[in-house]
Amino acid sequence: MHKLIILVFLSFLFPLNSLAAEKDITLSIVYNNVIYDKNLTAAWGFSCLVEGLEKNILFDTGGDGNILLSNMKKLKVNAQDINIVVLSHIHGDHTGGLWDVLEENNQIIVYLPFSFPESLKNRAYKMCKGVISVDKPAEICKEVWSTGELGTWIKEQSLVINTRKGLVIISGCAHPGIVNIVKFVKSYFHKDVYLVMGGFHLTAYNDKQIEAIIKDLKELKVEKVGPSHCTGERAVELFRQSWGKNFCELGCGAKIKIVD
Ligand SMILES: [Zn+2]
Ligand SMILES: [Zn+2]
Repeated sequence: MHKLIILVFLSFLFPLNSLAAEKDITLSIVYNNVIYDKNLTAAWGFSCLVEGLEKNILFDTGGDGNILLSNMKKLKVNAQDINIVVLSHIHGDHTGGLWDVLEENNQIIVYLPFSFPESLKNRAYKMCKGVISVDKPAEICKEVWSTGELGTWIKEQSLVINTRKGLVIISGCAHPGIVNIVKFVKSYFHKDVYLVMGGFHLTAYNDKQIEAIIKDLKELKVEKVGPSHCTGERAVELFRQSWGKNFCELGCGAKIKIVD
């Protein structure tokens, strides 16, 4: 009995104390306003497909379902193979493609922030296998977690993948602040961060402010970065300079493989 209590307590303190993912993980950028593969259509928004884990997860859906499905087709991704959609936050450039994906596959489970309007939750519920509203950190499948809703004004969840190299954090727009997100993930999961990628939302920041964020992320020992989408060209350039070979290009059509 006591043993059980201790185990439950330990799993609460160290939620990722299990073995990290054993397969190679592929992260494909299927929607982005930043261009990478010229055969795909770049449009404002973000969507990233995570493959190689227990479930195939589409993180965010871009702004336009037609563009999303056409990009997926060009990358030979079948909507039928997606098990889970995670929506980071309410903005249309992250949620707009959801309905077209659900029309292609009604067996998907959608994880969305608890604060989403009931009307959106109900609409999704009618079109898919299940809708899970996330407020606190939650396990999505083996080795994959949501941070839960972070921030106050625009609430947002980020995706956390436990890999053999460390944690991978995928951010939609980072409205709660990219440094705050990384700090939260490090303190909650008690593991080093291997890669932070997605939108960092720094277009309105000047060089001094961007340098301060870079310094914070370096102090947090973030090994690799893939800033894109709403990060802003100047910030992306400064991140590229700071991380050098550990900077990941993340435009539309880019693929990141996490291999040991
Ligand atoms: Zn966005
Ligand atoms: Zn946004």
